[in-house]
Amino acid sequence: MKISDIAKKLNIPIKELREQAKELEFVITQKSQTMSDKKAREFIEKLKDKTKESGNDIIKEEVEEIKEVKAKEIFVPAIITVKEFSEKMNLPVTRVITELMKNGVMASINENIDFETAEIVGEFLGFKIKKETEKKETEKKYKTIGTKKERPPVVTIIGHVDHGKTTLLDHIRKTNVVGGESGGITQHIGAYQVERRGRKITFLDTPGHAAFSAMREHGVRITDVAVLIVAADDGVKPQTKEAVNFAREAGVPIVVAINKIDKPEADIEKTKKQLADIGLIPEEWGGKTVMSAVSAKTEQGIEELLDLILLVADMKKTESFIDVPANGFVVESHLSGSKGPVATILIRDGVLKIGDAFIVGKGVSGKIRMMTDYKNKKIKEAGPSVPVRISGLSDTPNFGELLEVRPSLKEAKSETSRASRQITVKGIAMRGLAEVSSSIRSGELKELYLIIKADVAGSLRAIEDAIGDMQFEEVRVKIINSDIGDITESDVKMASASGALIIGFRVDVVSNAKKLIEHTGVRVERFDIIYELIDKITLTLTGLLEPEKNEVEIGKGKVLQIFRDGRKDKILGIRLTKGELETNIDIKIFREQELLTSGKITSLKNVDKDISEIKKTGEYGIGVSLRIEGDERIKIEENDSFIAYKKEEKQKELKRIE
Ligand code: GDP
Repeated sequence: MKISDIAKKLNIPIKELREQAKELEFVITQKSQTMSDKKAREFIEKLKDKTKESGNDIIKEEVEEIKEVKAKEIFVPAIITVKEFSEKMNLPVTRVITELMKNGVMASINENIDFETAEIVGEFLGFKIKKETEKKETEKKYKTIGTKKERPPVVTIIGHVDHGKTTLLDHIRKTNVVGGESGGITQHIGAYQVERRGRKITFLDTPGHAAFSAMREHGVRITDVAVLIVAADDGVKPQTKEAVNFAREAGVPIVVAINKIDKPEADIEKTKKQLADIGLIPEEWGGKTVMSAVSAKTEQGIEELLDLILLVADMKKTESFIDVPANGFVVESHLSGSKGPVATILIRDGVLKIGDAFIVGKGVSGKIRMMTDYKNKKIKEAGPSVPVRISGLSDTPNFGELLEVRPSLKEAKSETSRASRQITVKGIAMRGLAEVSSSIRSGELKELYLIIKADVAGSLRAIEDAIGDMQFEEVRVKIINSDIGDITESDVKMASASGALIIGFRVDVVSNAKKLIEHTGVRVERFDIIYELIDKITLTLTGLLEPEKNEVEIGKGKVLQIFRDGRKDKILGIRLTKGELETNIDIKIFREQELLTSGKITSLKNVDKDISEIKKTGEYGIGVSLRIEGDERIKIEENDSFIAYKKEEKQKELKRIE
């Protein structure tokens, strides 16, 4: 913080500030123009105490204000080069490199550092480092000028397995579907709409956390309301808590559905108490959480639940822009045999029409060829919160990616090809795992970096724990990132940048990431069983160890005669007393037990005949090429002995650090 700024805020001359500092025993040299934020705060604190004693309230107020001055916030992605990071902070690169070194990180100007490193170093440099997600970008896109209009809320059902998510979704779909055609939905396209009191509600058909992890991944808000389902006969479970955390993290309001109340063992009060324990306090107990007791089986309470959803949605005001080029989120996609890539898009703004050109995410473009609704009915256009299945895509996009209409297919295509080129160039430029393992081999680096993606928090924790125990003498495992959800493009980018191995546990690789994996050569391993995962990591680590080289004796004997005595190449008459000989194996020559020299057997002769191996003891001629340096000269003499041997590589074993 500049000293002049502090003085200005305090409304005192700089000179006085310096005097005050001196009095308060704060060392500020005459030359220094700045004070570290920490020091400034301490100084202000002291000044505050002093003015309080003297009753000078004016300064006190100013001081309060200045205390509020926060460290400047800088947004940094998961991986950033030292250069880019310095530029963001507007600091000389050398300053950043020095700070990195102080923290034990040796990184050069163009090398990448991860977010955690940037966070630590940035803090030392007086900044507040925040993670940059695509959120900002997406939200920026939303700041489109246009008229806002209310749209139907989009709802996700979350909760512990077997608590009734699927049953509830099925019942709502059957009984309340728009237009009242019960059972009219024959295909599941990832979302559908129902009607309640003349208003529409869109339900995401895929229960669970997948939606939330995609939301986190893409920094987008797909759902407006989360219905948390808790079975009254089972109560709050680990996945219930996890689901609540997901929703909270995403800032999505929760409506609780206490399910299975038809069951005799159902205990609504007990369930409410457990919910209150995790911070979901029912309204009737003075809390803010709306709850409805339902039975997905008998359909009891479902209408009321829909009312509550609308109520919460109204409080949140779900709106979208109507007169803008359409955009929306991918909620499902797959490759269809007849139509090629198809995707379900949940429209957010504007109206999507047949023939519209678009991009999805960074890599997919297209022109809408066909559009159907969730009843498989062909439609020509769709507005906000309506789920539509579209065809005409260049590839299958990922869940949560944003579709945006573009003026023409040409523009859409050039935009995606530009983006994919950027990824490729970057990908190739980044360090690959191969390079990293070679640095491990050469002893420079002894760490295996991992990025772990797992299906649920429980398995993630178990994997992290197991890996936490895997520290060995020569190699270390370091988890650079772990998260719930499928392996995505950003995981691959991170892996490529850091040289990490991606471990997927019961997760898939999203289609865009597959392409990037090919480009970057990042290694991805997927597992369904934890011990197999651990075995594989152990194996990988073992593979990274320099193998032990053992010398295995093949044959030995004595030198009888020197036929040719070149500096490097010799031809010797020998007697093989034990074992066998072959060409291209190593030989050591000894004089009275002491090693004289070593080299390679280049040829073998039996009398005058060249042979490639000697199987029997006896007298032979051998050609030897010595391993000598410079103009060193070695004289082999009669009666010197030799041992011929082969090098055998043996895999070292990992030694665990206890
Ligand atoms: P999900 O894993 O959360 O999707 O749960 P499901 O919807 O698959 O439900 C799990 C089991 O609970 C199934 O056997 C359902 O039939 C049953 N179930 C769901 N809701 C109710 C309910 O309200 N009452 C009763 N008695 N059973 C239910």
